[in-house]
Amino acid sequence: MAKLIVLTVLSLFLFSCNNSECQTQQEKSSENQAAACPAPEPEPEPVPEPLPDEGEEVPHEALIFDAKVDLFNFERLDEDKVLKAIEIIKTVIATKEFRDQVIGYTYQGKKTFVDNKGFSNQQIYQMLLDGKEDLRPEIDHEMDLELELYYSWTSTVGYTTANSLRIFMNTKFFDNYSPAQVAGNVFHEWIHKLGFTHDSSYSVSRDSSVPYAIGYIMRDLGRKYE
Ligand SMILES: [Zn+2]
Repeated sequence: MAKLIVLTVLSLFLFSCNNSECQTQQEKSSENQAAACPAPEPEPEPVPEPLPDEGEEVPHEALIFDAKVDLFNFERLDEDKVLKAIEIIKTVIATKEFRDQVIGYTYQGKKTFVDNKGFSNQQIYQMLLDGKEDLRPEIDHEMDLELELYYSWTSTVGYTTANSLRIFMNTKFFDNYSPAQVAGNVFHEWIHKLGFTHDSSYSVSRDSSVPYAIGYIMRDLGRKYE
């Protein structure tokens, strides 16, 4: 009988011990989260984590990802090049390499992008596949694009503004770019449409911002499909 009581007391002790340990861990992790993710403005909607399937096939959305493109100020050959670039984007998105490079992206030894608005690499990958632009906020697995060519002697390759879907591309660069480079540039600008930004002046960390880093991934993988 005494043995039973001892066991009961012991198991109660173990239970409460586990419980408090769990609580402490929870507290710790919510503290970490608060420190790592300062409240962004506006607060992003929670993005559901897709099922982890590293090494498996890419998600179905990656295979059906599409683009709806309106072109302004494009001549025939420009049009051929930009449509080739769009095909490259669709082809690259459907690859495991693209998924693995986005999800596995590291900055200073950590799996993260710079200026990630508190989103994990996995969440950012899913946001790309969702195609939910700030100005076209439905999940349609599609890039909604308005592209316009313009000429400027400056070093600006392209730009866009937050209140318009239109992406402006400088012919000074566009004319000399390969289709894969155009793909990288279009994708960079489109990522701004998902709400991601970067420093306006050059820095090493800027290259690891969501638009730059993923634009480069797109360009480099795209070279295979030119
Ligand atoms: Zn940019």
